[in-house]
Amino acid sequence: MIFTNPAGAPELACDECGCRWFDRQRNTCYECGAPVPAAEVSAFERALAEYGASTRSEEKRLRG
Ligand SMILES: [Zn+2]
Repeated sequence: MIFTNPAGAPELACDECGCRWFDRQRNTCYECGAPVPAAEVSAFERALAEYGASTRSEEKRLRG
């Protein structure tokens, strides 16, 4: 599952146990070993990219 942390950044958490530790080599949860679906990983990467884009435009706005 993907959720947003208090800072507004997206975070990826295990669908099975809800933990946020992943083996990024194998795309599996450290806690329970559940695989992270490729679709989930790409959705997360997209959310991260969107977050990055929004923080960059925010910076631009703040600096004028
Ligand atoms: Zn898990």
